[in-house]
Amino acid sequence: MSYKNFPMVPRVIFGRGSFNQLNDILEPKRLNSKAPFIFLVDDVFKNNAWLTSRIPLAYGDRIIYISAAEEPKTSQVDELVEDIILTTKERPSGIVGIGGGTLLDLAKAVSIMLTNEGEAKDYQGWDLVKNEAVYHVGIPTISGTGAEVSRTTVLTGPEKKLGINSDYTPFDQVVLDSELTQDVPKEQWFYTGMDCYIHCIESLEGSYLNAFSQSYGEKAFDLCKEIFLDNNLSEVESQEKLMMASWHGGMSIAYSQVGVAHAMSYGLAYLLGTKHGIGNCIVFDHLEEFYPEGVKLFKEMKAKHNIELPQGICANLTDADFDIMIKVSLGMAPLWENALGKNWKNIMTPEKLKSLYQKM
Ligand code: NAD
Ligand code: ZN
Repeated sequence: MSYKNFPMVPRVIFGRGSFNQLNDILEPKRLNSKAPFIFLVDDVFKNNAWLTSRIPLAYGDRIIYISAAEEPKTSQVDELVEDIILTTKERPSGIVGIGGGTLLDLAKAVSIMLTNEGEAKDYQGWDLVKNEAVYHVGIPTISGTGAEVSRTTVLTGPEKKLGINSDYTPFDQVVLDSELTQDVPKEQWFYTGMDCYIHCIESLEGSYLNAFSQSYGEKAFDLCKEIFLDNNLSEVESQEKLMMASWHGGMSIAYSQVGVAHAMSYGLAYLLGTKHGIGNCIVFDHLEEFYPEGVKLFKEMKAKHNIELPQGICANLTDADFDIMIKVSLGMAPLWENALGKNWKNIMTPEKLKSLYQKM
């Protein structure tokens, strides 16, 4: 048995208002006056002076606003890298991602592609990255995906939706300032928060579970119950706890895997562009058979927060459409093996998977 030797985020700052210390964090990392910091910022903050006025710009530093309406694409990463190379005098001192999973994943991918030849799609997979990435910093503004701690950046390429999983992917620095999450709309708060909850269930119920993953998964699970079901948290406590739940949920899957909801949600994302958080919720709502207790609690949380999930998103799909989703989903072998064991192919046949999608 050979065990995996995973890197972790080496530096993290936690606390309300810690975003104000960004200049102190970045300044020692500036290589020289020609090597700028590039800030990739969710365009939801474009006219938000409260946040943007605190981004410490000097020399040729630049903010690039990016929409999170669609999940990151390999072609988008390639365009950003080309733009940065063409407009900077020297390789940047660092890439700083400010936003949700979409912006965090873009920041990770761009920092990798600035030091590695070819196109982003060439690196979708496991351990294909050869050179260390440019220094990169992650600043989440919504909590749940665990993208701030994970060893992957999930990208949709021409052939697949798959992460660049490598030792060079994790951030060099993360800033956890829960104040940045204060204006997240309620529905989105729920969908992205449930991504964390589903990470816990899939990790804790999976066959890959071990004491490392369990210790993080149980903590994140308890925090999710507190945040989404108890009534006695203040807003600030709730935001801080969700930030830490996301972190622990991400750590939990680092040493195990996700399961059925993620495998199926990847199919929806690939064919229909359904975003990760809401896609996971739509799928998980129908998975009583696999996660009875987890789904029961999920439905309680959904009811408590008056969340109405879209129905019938697969109602008008053709057989060819179903085949595409099934192929993408069944391609995620480790997720199925974690969820259903070594015999998973006998349990999750294409027919069975189709019947599940038809419920959604
Ligand atoms: P997101 O980044 O797509 O953002 C969702 C919405 O919330 C967007 O409209 C965004 O503009 C808005 N938003 C973000 N912060 C806000 C704020 N403070 N105030 C108001 N609005 C705000 O959402 P997400 O769920 O965090 O990320 C989903 C992405 O993360 C997917 O692309 C998925 O593949 C990826 N993901 C990555 C990992 C990983 O380990 N790398 C894990 C899970 C998911
Ligand atoms: Zn997820």
